[in-house]
Amino acid sequence: MQSINPFSGETINTYPEHTSDEVETIICQVDASFQQWKLISFEHRSVLMKNLQAKLLERKAELASIMSAEMGKVMREAVGEIEKCALVCGFYADNAEAFLKNEPVKTEASESYISYQPIGTVLAVMPWNFPFWQVFRFLAPALMAGNTGVLKHASNVPGCALAIEQLVRDAGFPENVFRTLLIGSKEVKAVIENPLIKAVTLTGSTPAGKSVASAAGSVLKKSVLELGGSDPYLILEDANIETAARLCITSRLLNAGQSCIGAKRFIIANSVYDEFKAEFVRLMSNATFGDPLDPLTTIGPLARWDLRNELHQQVRKSREMGATILLGGFIPEGKSAFYPPTVLENVVPGMPAYREELFGPVAVLFRVNSEEEAIRIANDTVFGLGAGIFTSDVSKGKLLAEKGLEAGCVFVNDFVKSDPRLPFGGIKESGYGRELSAIGIREFVNVKTVVVK
Ligand code: NAP
Repeated sequence: MQSINPFSGETINTYPEHTSDEVETIICQVDASFQQWKLISFEHRSVLMKNLQAKLLERKAELASIMSAEMGKVMREAVGEIEKCALVCGFYADNAEAFLKNEPVKTEASESYISYQPIGTVLAVMPWNFPFWQVFRFLAPALMAGNTGVLKHASNVPGCALAIEQLVRDAGFPENVFRTLLIGSKEVKAVIENPLIKAVTLTGSTPAGKSVASAAGSVLKKSVLELGGSDPYLILEDANIETAARLCITSRLLNAGQSCIGAKRFIIANSVYDEFKAEFVRLMSNATFGDPLDPLTTIGPLARWDLRNELHQQVRKSREMGATILLGGFIPEGKSAFYPPTVLENVVPGMPAYREELFGPVAVLFRVNSEEEAIRIANDTVFGLGAGIFTSDVSKGKLLAEKGLEAGCVFVNDFVKSDPRLPFGGIKESGYGRELSAIGIREFVNVKTVVVK
């Protein structure tokens, strides 16, 4: 397993993969730890989780630079990601006990209640795009609930995976409550089938989700899936165009466009289309790509050359089928895995840019003549992760958010963000289950009914 810097092209490190015997041993050790960890009080777990929060903040520059080197994230965003991990640790340290306290239910019995109990070791299969945040939003609630975890991280970020394991150790958690497995995706099925693994969560692409869900289904284990998205943003005729364009671009370019909840399709009312398009293209052309360590860089390289080339194929094929490129759409010279900010219009059903997720700094503009047409195009996708609506009529925005758009999260007059206090997840082929909030911590617990006659 190798980590290769997508800006410099240099190999950062090479790691031997765990053998199947080593994987088996680690899972046994983590299960042994679970037998003790499940008995530890919330108070004690909270202290350790707060230590973890402190360690993250103490080491944020060092951790951010591992991330930046392995997958090209600009340092400013990488530091922000570590701070967000600290936030989720603090959030569950403070709230897990209340989220999981016994809930009395009135029946004919003398006492009846719901008790939330940990289930054991959960496998987390994670992607490279937010290599710390995706792991921590699983890790913090899982450990606070009394579960233990094993991480199979994306193969291009083993340095991040090992740094997270070490942080948990350094925060004073008992040995083996959280371990990293250095394995490829082919080995995941065998891990899911291991009887000591009780459930699996995957954040990644829809094909990976389908594969993990079927492996989990075949052995009747619970899965939570956070998959791809092609988030639509509706710009209605009464929207503030300057604000809408600015926020839409912030969302589209975050992490060089490699975000599941990035704004990807912009569906614009005819009467404001030209104004929005002019402002959007102007702001997109201001974004500069460059060294992720340079504070002036807006977007770094994509995480790998194969991903950059795949994205370019989607753009190229859409253009061959009739799409217009307003900006970008080429592979820059040089050794880095850059892709320029790109804007497309005249995109119609059948083109890759219409039906597929564009995982990079590529935006698609659609002109529509009515709100009905806007909703129809927004929902004409297999995905259902996030969506946005820009309008000065908040009541209308809320109505379209609740009843119109097929998505797990809809933001009115802002772009979609994950927040530890709010549930996060998708519908349709964007997955199922929720992370974060009180709902997220209850995904991997035994909702146990206790009745006393
Ligand atoms: P990916 O190729 O699906 O990889 C994600 C993880 O799944 C990696 O650890 C990968 O391991 C593993 N994997 C891949 N195929 C697998 C299979 N058949 N069986 C078991 N494990 C498998 O996704 P990615 O390219 O890293 O990340 C980008 C995708 O993630 C995008 O589609 C994005 O929208 C989605 N995403 C979703 C969310 C969300 O919250 N909904 C958040 C972030 C990203 P290897 O690296 O070893 O292949």
